[in-house]
Amino acid sequence: MLGFFLEKFVLPFGDWYFKTEFMKTLKEYRKIPFRSKHELDALQETRLNAIMKYAKENVPFYQKLEFVLTGNALEDIKKFPIIHKSTLREVGKELVVGSLEGKDIICQKSSGSSGLQSEIFLTQREYLRGQAVQTSFWEWGGFRIGGKILQLGMSPKRSFMKRMKDIFLRTDYQLAYNISDEVVKKALLKNEKRNPDFFIGYASALYGYAQKAEQLGITGIKFKSVISLGDKMFPHYREKIEKVFHTKVFDTYGCTEGFMMASQCEMGNYHQISAQNYLELLDESGNPVPDGEPGFVVVTRLDAHKMPLIRFYLGDIAIRPKNPQPCACGRNFPLLEKIVGRDTDLVKTPSGKILIVHFFTGIWEYFQEIYQFRVIQHQLDRFEIEYIPDPSTFKPEVLSRIHQIMNDKAGEVLQITFKQVDQIPATKSGKPQIILSTLEKTVSNNL
Ligand SMILES: [Zn+2]
Repeated sequence: MLGFFLEKFVLPFGDWYFKTEFMKTLKEYRKIPFRSKHELDALQETRLNAIMKYAKENVPFYQKLEFVLTGNALEDIKKFPIIHKSTLREVGKELVVGSLEGKDIICQKSSGSSGLQSEIFLTQREYLRGQAVQTSFWEWGGFRIGGKILQLGMSPKRSFMKRMKDIFLRTDYQLAYNISDEVVKKALLKNEKRNPDFFIGYASALYGYAQKAEQLGITGIKFKSVISLGDKMFPHYREKIEKVFHTKVFDTYGCTEGFMMASQCEMGNYHQISAQNYLELLDESGNPVPDGEPGFVVVTRLDAHKMPLIRFYLGDIAIRPKNPQPCACGRNFPLLEKIVGRDTDLVKTPSGKILIVHFFTGIWEYFQEIYQFRVIQHQLDRFEIEYIPDPSTFKPEVLSRIHQIMNDKAGEVLQITFKQVDQIPATKSGKPQIILSTLEKTVSNNL
């Protein structure tokens, strides 16, 4: 009933008042995924051609570049340089069309894995279109407008617009980075009475809440679903959250720059949102990687014109399925097999292959003789593996067996030095660190 009222009156009024398209976009994205694969491919190509043409004609940065568009979207896109966060710092303003004055301009700041701050600009309308696509993701996970939400977010200052949103969308907004016993206890006790339907927030924060809830013995909240965003949803996070809150986790993959890359459906598969963005998986030279191989995510948003981001390098690593099958959920957006981590979480071999965290964990987890390990790489031709042995079962021969399996799996001889240690430091955020690498890993800029 409330949902009906919000969708029919409140949200359309907001769209009219702010000249935005939230409801229109949400309705569009409720239908688009069920179009045929052929139609979705054609839609993406049309949108990709349109944004490239617009950028070439209107964006100062692209006007200066000497290439011609032929109308073949999948070939033309390769002519555009990769935009890194560092590029944004250097030439960011040249990527903007028109003035940045005006109340409807939103500046989104983000810091990359390197800590490099960058900013991008969107109109309010573009921002809310992204929010609408995100809301459609939540709906894949059972969310309905009007349902009660417990949300863990990053903005302590709730602006007027945000406060209104919290009230109308029945949201209890808690800070994702403030996970102390006291704060979590208060929030959980409040929500035990409130009985919210959905729990939405950063994967690591949801996990933090689940851990605290278990420790504090406050496990009476039963969510219809939990929707994670922002950082990586590890399997052990998922397991804990689902157990403590008697529910199912739906993971989404988007970013502050407004890209809504992918979302998990009821079947647990990640669908890539080809109507909102064009997603490439590239190797370090900028060539597409074969399906089934990890590649750097480079993404083009298809529906933002204030600052068109074409071939934006996110620093994430993802894999497409080797033999994609249609998904039983009926959505025909293409599948992404997994988002496997950040460009900082990988090791390079001398032949140029990328080894992701799972390469190592997939081998080492079968050796109970080792408590913990960490891979350290400072030079391309070699790396070191620190390990903490289980003193009761460990024998040195195990290391050569592991080394052999790693060589076989990588398809080349890896130069590895093993080093026994007593302790392996955790990352700043407290997660176990599996890979520490100081090598530069990115897609080269083809300017
Ligand atoms: Zn599906």
